[in-house]
Amino acid sequence: MIHLATLLREPSALPQPHARPAACAKWVNSPRESLFWLLWRTLAAKRQDFGRPDSFIGKVSESKWVSFTVVTKTPKFAEVLFQLTGREFGRGGLITFKGSGWFLTIHPYFDPVFPGHGGKKEFVWWGYGLNPDSEGDYVKKRMSDCTGEELLEEALRHLRLDDAAHQEVKSESTCVPCMMPYITSQFMPRKAGDRPAVRPSGAENLAFVGQYAEAEKDVVFTVEYSVRTAKMAIKSLLESAGPDAPRIEVEPMYEGYRNLWELMRAGWISLRPSWWPII
Ligand SMILES: Cc1cc2nc3c(=O)[nH]c(=O)nc-3n(C[C@H](O)[C@H](O)[C@H](O)COP(=O)(O)OP(=O)(O)OC[C@H]3O[C@@H](n4cnc5c(N)ncnc54)[C@H](O)[C@@H]3O)c2cc1C
Repeated sequence: MIHLATLLREPSALPQPHARPAACAKWVNSPRESLFWLLWRTLAAKRQDFGRPDSFIGKVSESKWVSFTVVTKTPKFAEVLFQLTGREFGRGGLITFKGSGWFLTIHPYFDPVFPGHGGKKEFVWWGYGLNPDSEGDYVKKRMSDCTGEELLEEALRHLRLDDAAHQEVKSESTCVPCMMPYITSQFMPRKAGDRPAVRPSGAENLAFVGQYAEAEKDVVFTVEYSVRTAKMAIKSLLESAGPDAPRIEVEPMYEGYRNLWELMRAGWISLRPSWWPII
């Protein structure tokens, strides 16, 4: 099985707090050098039904985000967020600063984030900006040119902490930035055949799995999508292995767009006044 993966977050260097994301991805302007694409491209050059990787690669400016991870070693940050949102740290989901130049979102994580972590001593949160080439509202630089400290400064300014809390949180935090050049590449405009079928027609011992294999009607980016393609591959290959081979089932796709209640709910959430609660 050929796993069309690792394309979402392919950093070329280990991220560091003082690194600038643009510099992290030194090959951003020459994505064709990226080794992770090589296998798919080599295969696709040999057969038309192995997909068209170029529909997804080489458009870094359209598919990149800057992301950052913060570890904060003071409860002050959790307290401030609680005052602002009324939610315990990690219980409130994503927080998006809608009008921000970088289109910034932060996401506090609930304890424990990893084995051995917890006890409300370290607070881990994550953030990203969908407009990494725009200027910040407080840090007047492109997001992709900012260090971890500068990203942290911008995020904290948006939260409008008082000066003492701002200084405390900033001095007790480590913020590590990371450029993700292909994070939304799987959403690039595509046409039929750009993604290979999980099991190309006639294949006896080969299947494609992961975000760039075709699972009709499913939604890319999710872990579930990759899992589905793997299940589809195993099911299909087992079925062709003969009547004695074991069988597995793939769960039917949930088709939310056929559910009137879900459509109404989505419409309501999109159109409701901002002060009205989500139902
Ligand atoms: C910042 C971020 C946030 C996300 N948030 C969500 C979310 O909230 N919900 C959600 O559903 N999805 C989310 N996703 C997407 C999700 O992480 C991916 O869709 C999912 O991880 C894809 O799974 P995969 O197994 O296909 O590929 P991957 O998870 O990329 O796994 C590929 C594996 O192959 C390994 N590998 C690469 N090359 C080789 C090699 N040559 N030999 C051996 N091993 C190799 C890699 O190290 C990696 O472990 C997020 C992604 C990112 C980057």
